[in-house]
Amino acid sequence: MKTLGLLGGMSWESTAVYYQWLNRLARERLGGQHSAKLLIWSADFATIAAMQAAGDWGAATALLADAARRLEAAGAEGLLICANTMHKMAMEVAAAVNIPLIHVADATASVIVASGAVRPLLMATRFTMEQPFYLERLRTGGVEAITPNLEDRQRLHAIIYDELVQGRFESASKAAVVAIAARAVSQEGADGVILGCTEFGLLVGARDMPVPVFDTTEIHARAAMDFALAT
Ligand code: GLU
Repeated sequence: MKTLGLLGGMSWESTAVYYQWLNRLARERLGGQHSAKLLIWSADFATIAAMQAAGDWGAATALLADAARRLEAAGAEGLLICANTMHKMAMEVAAAVNIPLIHVADATASVIVASGAVRPLLMATRFTMEQPFYLERLRTGGVEAITPNLEDRQRLHAIIYDELVQGRFESASKAAVVAIAARAVSQEGADGVILGCTEFGLLVGARDMPVPVFDTTEIHARAAMDFALAT
């Protein structure tokens, strides 16, 4: 089994979920006492969020590239950025190291294509929903995702930054996320929902939604374990 390097703490709420998924998957696949071989670098998310809000993507890229090099030097054989938003600088981070970066949008696109969904709704931070880096990567993978209207994008963004990354999981916010998805299904013909923020799975799940749910945290962890166990 290969050792995976996780760029985490974005936020730690979801890095903890990655940790659980990867270990659970190692046990499922190998049985017995097996668990995942991991190195985790975990940011102080306040620093990252401040850079994002200021649009200081250069500093954020330098921070992640440096962390990626540290993980590689410590023995990581494959790299995960444990957040969708920070895949904005995935190419620069990948270029900073000599180990493969497992891209969350590539993994997500292949699961969606295999499911047969053709018009999934992307729910994420405003950066991920509004900038081209994520939607274009999905498109390259064969997926044309749609996004919510401005008001709903603002609501989702606020739920992520003001609540989920701070460990708050409110029933009113859960209802709002479900309502945004339901509207996209009935009014826009969405046939799937991409939980494109790695904390969303802590708030909502497949049982809450009228269409198939693509949880990027689970999908990313599964792709990473496939990589770790490939011979
Ligand atoms: N974890 C989130 C994501 O998947 C949001 C936090 C961040 O902006 O890094 O995008």
